[in-house]
Amino acid sequence: MIEIDGSQGEGGGQILRTSLSLSACTGQAIHIRHIRQKRKKGGLMRQHLACVTSLARICNAHVKGASIGSKAVEFTPNNITGGEYHFSIGSAGSTMLVLQTVLPALLQANKPSKLILEGGTHNPLAPSFEFINHAFLPMLKKMGVECKTSIKRYGFFPVGAGHVEIEISPCSKLAPIKIEERGKLQAIEPVCIGAGIPAHVLNRESKQLLYKFTNPQPKVKTLMVDSLGSGNLVSIRLFYEHVNEVIDCLGAIGIRAEKVATNAITAMRKYQASKAPVGEHLADQLLLPMAIGSGGCFVTSELSEHTRTNIDVIESLTNVRIHKQKLANHLWKIIVDV
Ligand code: ATP
Repeated sequence: MIEIDGSQGEGGGQILRTSLSLSACTGQAIHIRHIRQKRKKGGLMRQHLACVTSLARICNAHVKGASIGSKAVEFTPNNITGGEYHFSIGSAGSTMLVLQTVLPALLQANKPSKLILEGGTHNPLAPSFEFINHAFLPMLKKMGVECKTSIKRYGFFPVGAGHVEIEISPCSKLAPIKIEERGKLQAIEPVCIGAGIPAHVLNRESKQLLYKFTNPQPKVKTLMVDSLGSGNLVSIRLFYEHVNEVIDCLGAIGIRAEKVATNAITAMRKYQASKAPVGEHLADQLLLPMAIGSGGCFVTSELSEHTRTNIDVIESLTNVRIHKQKLANHLWKIIVDV
């Protein structure tokens, strides 16, 4: 059983999720201690527990310590079984993080799978449904991964109760990827999404986006969606020749609609001012699929603590070696050598 220290580096939930995914894919049992020790409230929260129990069902694992607040988990995987699974987080915990945890195993399954996930779909500090759909999965498609996603109900934090469905085709060997430049900008799609809020909020966000965009001025979509709780998001999707990026800014009580839109524009400009094709969040999320596949390389702007820690966890559980080359200030090349 390989020992994993959940307090290393970033010290958050990603150490648990990456370790679980690699355990399921390699068949290696793990014992992870000090789970989320660097968070205010350490141990397993509902989202993390859902990651453990969902993956355990998929790979028929034997598990010890799977309860709320638990700071240590033993996970002994078995055969991976594809098929239809319905996992409900039971809080606004991120369904997208559960998806990222179980996806590597389901790609190795013997048959296609369908996942029905209930919980949060748009959470602070986690990839949103938009990010997964328009940034993460398109990069996995380049590796040969076929996933079809649909959102039946939005689940904004803190109420959650969203509903997403994902169809996953097995892919026994993911292809290598190389993302060294963005290539030409092909489209910008800004969208203002709301649930249970006055329509003027979306109109003001849309107006502010149009005011801030110079050339080219894209069409801004506004979308009132079905959700049990209220919520608001300004999401800007950037489609380049070789990479996509999604900038998300969640609205909140006390933040003016114009400010939410301006924040999204500021984050977009920061991304565009850098030469790096792979944004900070996509960088830490691409490492795992590249490590279970055929590796490759990408260029990113910053080595976030999430990226550094994920590299260490992957290297401690596999023979994969991940090299970090500084190309210039705020420009790093990451090479995943499998
Ligand atoms: P905790 O930190 O409470 O343990 P957690 O389990 O949600 O929380 P983290 O270890 O912080 O997990 O990982 C969060 C993940 O969400 C990382 O992969 C990070 O890149 C991603 N993420 C955070 N914010 C965004 C965002 N705005 N867009 C896309 N991805 C994001």
